[in-house]
Amino acid sequence: MEAKKRIALIAHDNKKYELAEWAVHNKDILSNHELFATGTTGTVLEEALKQSVRKYKSGPLGGDQQIGALIVEGQIDILIFFWDPMEALPHDPDIKALLRIGAVWNIPLACDRATADFIISSPLFGKPYKRMLPDYEAYKNREIKKKG
Ligand code: PGA
Repeated sequence: MEAKKRIALIAHDNKKYELAEWAVHNKDILSNHELFATGTTGTVLEEALKQSVRKYKSGPLGGDQQIGALIVEGQIDILIFFWDPMEALPHDPDIKALLRIGAVWNIPLACDRATADFIISSPLFGKPYKRMLPDYEAYKNREIKKKG
């Protein structure tokens, strides 16, 4: 990934204020990067940051899946995803899928503010970084060997 990061930001309703506050706190840093978000989160962030955000569908309408697809296509470098651990949501399967795909593709992924703070203050944040990609062939061969 380049020095300029493509950052996806998503927050569930109970977490939107927290994400907006975090983003405003880091406004100067974020202004050097490209922001992506699910629909409502994107609108909240645009208002808070006065910075344009590439907005996708709202989460319950498939926005998390759209962000997941961007990750698979190598178009997102970092995911800041303040999901709500205190409430079951209708799109729980999509949330789980997004968390899974973030881990599959080895992108930095923050689910809470402390982790987001660590990511944004990392010396790697503003530099190019070569991330390991999934070695699916090796995984498959291992599975085949296991089955004999
Ligand atoms: P929203 O979607 O940004 O449109 O609220 C986020 C979500 O609920 O996953």
